[in-house]
Amino acid sequence: MFWWGKYMQGMEELSTEERVTVLSSALEQIADSVMITDTTGVIKYVNDSFELLTGYSRHEVIGLKPSVVKSGRHSLIFYRRLWSKLAEGRPFRSTFINRRRDGAIYYESKTITPIRAFSGEVTHYVATGRDVSDRVGLEDRLRHLAYSDSLTSLPNRTRFLELLRNDLAGLEKSDEQLAVLFIDLDGFKVVNDSRGHVLGDQLLIDVGRRLRQALYGSDLLARMGGDEFAVLVRGRKSVDSVGVICDHIIQALETPFLVEDAPAYISASIGIARAPRDGTDAVTLIKHADTAMYEAKRKGGCYRFFKPEMTRAAAEQFNIRNDLRRAARTGELYLEYQPQVHLGSGQLRGVEALLRWRHPAHGPIPPTSFIPALEDTGMIRTVGLWVVREACAQLRRWQNEGVTVPMVSINVSPQQLEDPDLTKDIASAIEEFQLDPGSLEIELVETSQLAEIDRVEEALRQLDALGVRVALDDFGTGFSALTHLHRFPVHTVKIDRDFVGMLGKETEDARLIEGILGVARSLTLDVIAEGVETPDQWAQLRQLGCDFGQGFLIQRPCGAADIATFLSHSGPPALVPPPVPDTPPKPGGPPPLV
Ligand code: C2E
Ligand code: MG
Ligand code: MG
Repeated sequence: MFWWGKYMQGMEELSTEERVTVLSSALEQIADSVMITDTTGVIKYVNDSFELLTGYSRHEVIGLKPSVVKSGRHSLIFYRRLWSKLAEGRPFRSTFINRRRDGAIYYESKTITPIRAFSGEVTHYVATGRDVSDRVGLEDRLRHLAYSDSLTSLPNRTRFLELLRNDLAGLEKSDEQLAVLFIDLDGFKVVNDSRGHVLGDQLLIDVGRRLRQALYGSDLLARMGGDEFAVLVRGRKSVDSVGVICDHIIQALETPFLVEDAPAYISASIGIARAPRDGTDAVTLIKHADTAMYEAKRKGGCYRFFKPEMTRAAAEQFNIRNDLRRAARTGELYLEYQPQVHLGSGQLRGVEALLRWRHPAHGPIPPTSFIPALEDTGMIRTVGLWVVREACAQLRRWQNEGVTVPMVSINVSPQQLEDPDLTKDIASAIEEFQLDPGSLEIELVETSQLAEIDRVEEALRQLDALGVRVALDDFGTGFSALTHLHRFPVHTVKIDRDFVGMLGKETEDARLIEGILGVARSLTLDVIAEGVETPDQWAQLRQLGCDFGQGFLIQRPCGAADIATFLSHSGPPALVPPPVPDTPPKPGGPPPLV
């Protein structure tokens, strides 16, 4: 009997011969490439798609080993992992970098599965694969965007953090040192406000150029956002003379910049934190350099070294951690909700729950500042659980009141996913509030810092098994977006609002969104565009084939009661989708909606 005998249940009415014919023609015609080897790795069979993909005919490869398509781009460890998985009798999945007959490299998403005979013994391996070269190309472009500042082309904050972390890891094993300089421009805001953003942008590009020239090749310069730059100075000698580097930077900015032939005066305040003496982790070092920079600004000096007293002074003004502890007890934390709608019909898809903190003395604190503090202190687990329960309770209240909210999306931090109790907590909230699991969606921020990636994967699989949906948030900003799509059970991607904001300005971004939509379509995922602020963006997103949107144009985050009002409006302007221009869809582009 052939090895595929056990897969033939349900085909009992066919004769053995017919079954074999059906299965072998299925193998021949399937779009995936198929290769079957024996246990020594000798190729016994390849299908038409394999021939098409690799350029080799079956006569050329049968009897050879799969190394015929090897590109030499994988490490020994990769093959060791492959063989150890197969030796355990388990399938191996990965993206292979292979070489076609004509020498061209291609990327193949491949699964190799051991096939057992009735006796249980492994007799063959079957490798099925699909060409994902397009996707990998898109991923490279996304990675480039995710890692560099589009204005100055310098590395951005994400990249800076990652390289700093790498260097710090190396520091543990040596007696090396490094320093982080945090640079804030003085005078930039005046130019930007008085002479306009376009000239402001040009000025930032020029500043970036001068800073680069003032530094050594081994120093890493990054733009952290706005008018903030950072430098990573490496090596003991350089750290000892970091004051000289600061002098170079200050001198480099002394000559006035010419902005449309008029001089603009820019100077810099610099804060310095050194590792290991001022901190051994990236976040602390940057924070300390930032604190020292404020001290330099306050005292009017050009640069300042970090001193522990500075933190104490800052802490006396506003102690985010202590205040958060109190806030979690006193009801200063609450949720707002923001609608997500179908861009074609304006119908409500669901709402995203967004955490808010109203500080009794300092007023509303943005989640982008207090959520990292919750994460640093580990409090995100308790607060995150409260968010889950409160959002579920609210969904139940809406349902009781007859307010039709089909789904609520809840943001969770990677740390929460690393908590083994998270799925249990979500399951018990679903039960307690008698919800359909499919009416919950968990939004996971796409990040490069998923430390315990196996744990995260497991948690997502458990959620998937519960019937809860999983969304990748801020898609495109993390560096391994598409890898995660491949690996995690994901139902939805949310295109980051940075991409949406650039729609219409740069064609590259429209193409990227199109690329993301293409991948999402092939994986039958929902796509939500975040930060839809203008009717133009709405129209363009619809034209690109994006189904759902969320943003200020539709509705700002609001209280639970306002969601009922939002729904009851017979025809709020935002709910009437703007007309799609009369241009025919581009060949190969997405089909028009509605
Ligand atoms: P996010 O999940 O990407 O949430 C969307 C953010 O975009 C929200 O910011 C929302 O107010 C903002 N937004 C929505 N529409 C527009 C628009 O048209 N234009 C602009 N400029 N912004 C828009 P918010 O509320 O400040 O939240 C920031 C981030 O904080 C969230 O980003 C999410 O990552 C995190 N966050 C919020 N609530 C929670 C929570 O309960 N748990 C966790 N772990 N993170 C949360
Ligand atoms: Mg979100
Ligand atoms: Mg987002």
